[in-house]
Amino acid sequence: MPTIAIAPCRALADYLESIRRAGGDPIELHYDQDTPAQAIGRADGVLLTGGGDVDPSLYGEKPHATFQASETGRDAYEIELVREAVKADLPIFAICRGMQVLNVALGGTLVQDIPSMVNGALHHAVPESHALAHEVWVANGSRLYQLMKDKLDGEICQVNSRHHQAVNQVAPGWEVSGTAPDGVVEAIESPGDVFRLAVQWHPENFWRTGEFRPLFEGFIEAAGKRS
Ligand code: MN
Repeated sequence: MPTIAIAPCRALADYLESIRRAGGDPIELHYDQDTPAQAIGRADGVLLTGGGDVDPSLYGEKPHATFQASETGRDAYEIELVREAVKADLPIFAICRGMQVLNVALGGTLVQDIPSMVNGALHHAVPESHALAHEVWVANGSRLYQLMKDKLDGEICQVNSRHHQAVNQVAPGWEVSGTAPDGVVEAIESPGDVFRLAVQWHPENFWRTGEFRPLFEGFIEAAGKRS
């Protein structure tokens, strides 16, 4: 069974359940016990999860008034985790803050506050975990499209949304594969054989009903080829 390394976050239950239901064995990392390199050495894939904001000094900006830091040490740990995972060609699936920290780790930048910085922005901070908040337009031919094509309405899916930040400049070599109708980036991926996908919504909240199970299954399948 493929082993999936997960950096600690405040609410892991739905992530763990989503990984297990897709056939993976989730392992929660501990900052004080596992260096990112050690964690990568034992894992077949890496899952990056939700949380607070990435320190904007890491992409050369001053903090916006709404900045809310993540747990102490989390930025540095996850940035190294991403870089080690890429170096090792490990499959990566990144969710919400995970997508943001991945983008920063690989040289991209973030929109620090959607409501005050995006003209005509939709509501992206909808607290109910199962509320379908807005559409995502999926790029035809992308990995996201291939995985989700049986669940899409044309090239559209409905997603939940609990974020006030988003990817701005996409990391070199990565492409946008999902966009909200207001232009906010909702998914990025790195083309090529290694599974590397990041989404801004929370697919893990839907493990009971399976709307986004193909994303976890595709990730675990890719990790399984390494186990
Ligand atoms: Mn959103």
